[in-house]
This record gives sequence, C-alpha cells and structure tokens, in this order.
Amino acid sequence: THFGYKTIEKADKISMVAGVFHSVAKQYDVMNDLMSFGIHRLWKRFTIDASGVRPGNTVLDLAGGTGDLTAKFSQLVGREGKVILADINSSMLNVGRDKLRDKGLVQNIEYVQANAEYLPFEENTFDIVTIAFGLRNVTDKDKALRSIYSVLKPGGRLLILEFSKPEHELLNKAYDFYSFNILPKIGELVAKDGESYQYLAESIRMHPDQETLKSMMDNAGFEQTSFKNLTGGVVALHKGYKF
Ligand code: SAM
Repeated sequence: THFGYKTIEKADKISMVAGVFHSVAKQYDVMNDLMSFGIHRLWKRFTIDASGVRPGNTVLDLAGGTGDLTAKFSQLVGREGKVILADINSSMLNVGRDKLRDKGLVQNIEYVQANAEYLPFEENTFDIVTIAFGLRNVTDKDKALRSIYSVLKPGGRLLILEFSKPEHELLNKAYDFYSFNILPKIGELVAKDGESYQYLAESIRMHPDQETLKSMMDNAGFEQTSFKNLTGGVVALHKGYKF
C-alpha cells in the first residue's frame, strides 16, 4: 500500500492516525459533506433510529469526533439522560465541543479523551455505544470490541457505522476509483492535505468486510449480531447486544 501500513509497527499507526486527525479536524465537517455528497447525514440518521434510544439513556459516542451523533443523542436522551463524546484526538474533540456549544447543547454532554482499546469507564455503564467511521482507525479492533462490551449494561447495544464492501463488483470498482483517484484530489484542493485523504482511502480498503466484522463482534461476546448495508454496502451498520 502507499503507506505500507500492513507492515509498519503499531506505534507508527497510532501516530499516523493522530497526525491525520489533527490535520483534518478544522475542515472535517465540510469535507464530510463534500466527499459523501451529504449522504453521511442519512447514514447517521439511520444509526440513531436503529439505536432505539430513549429519554433517560446513557450513551457513549465513541470516536465521536466533531459530534454529529452526540448532537442528535443529546436531544433524544433529554435532561435525565447523558451522552459522552469520547475521542482519542484532542483536536477533533475541541472542534466537536465548540460546535455543540455553539448549538446550545450543553446540559447533558460530557467530553472525554480516550482510546477505544482502553475505555476509562466502569463496567455496565452504557445503554448504547456507537462508533461511527471510527473503528477502522483503531489499531487493535478486537481489544476495542471487548472494551466496549465491558462498559455496556446488560441489554445494552453497540452500533458500528463504518465503510464496508459494496455488494456489486461494478459499484466496488467505481467506489475504488473514487476513493483512490478523486478523493485525495478533493482533499488536496480543499483541505490542502491529499495525504490524509489517501490514508482514508487505504484504511477503507483494509477494513474487514461485513461478515468478518460480524464474526469479530461474536467473538467479543456480542449476541444477536446483525448488519444492514447502506448505499449498496459502501457503508454498513452493524448491531449487537450484551445480555
Ligand atoms: N464519529 C465521527 C463522525 O462520524 O463524523 C468522527 C469520525 S472520524 C472519521 C474518526 C475519529 O476516530 C477521529 O475523530 C479519530 O480521532 C477517532 N479515533 C481514531 N482512533 C481512535 C481510538 N483508538 N480511540 C478513539 N477514537 C479514535
């Protein structure tokens, strides 16, 4: 691969991912809309609906970045509920916090800098954990899944929204072309950062496909695991329960 990160050390991946998100934080939201033609908003809406969130719930928006999901959850859990926006990257957290405060969302949101592999929360804390476009950046995904399992309450659920494998070969090819040839150019032009967006394309291609991710969830202890393809499998929403 361009970064050759199949062979690079774990520490290198961590610092590379950190570099990418410090670098893109300020323009992250604009780029998201631009690169997905705004469709990421529908994927996130779908995730919220599938979460079954209720007033009073405690929600962890892991790798929550600039807080799109947190904003929606905050309105739905109400005064009795709580949303924790956790991210490993201080720049993304800062942009997220400023954005949510500007929207007047303050009363039920907390911000925590944390690595998904070592979540700093008590066992059985959350009704819902979401991780949207975050898991593929995590170095040890199995460890992160076990860590998430532990902080969920019995009856709680995990929702993973992530790029996946398009169902049809033609879409797969078109999508590959878009990711590797067009996306880094948009990144270069708009964010002056082609390399970060090259990383994005690489990380999407390397991410486990639908069935593999589902088995990883099974292995971490999740039950009734399932997934739903969105936009022809460009993205998939995985769901699993802790009982
Ligand atoms: N969830 C947001 C969204 O959907 O717009 C942000 C997604 S952004 C593509 C990925 C986020 O994952 C970044 O904010 C990055 O800092 C965070 N991240 C990467 N590795 C992480 C880790 N090991 N633990 C927690 N967050 C991590």
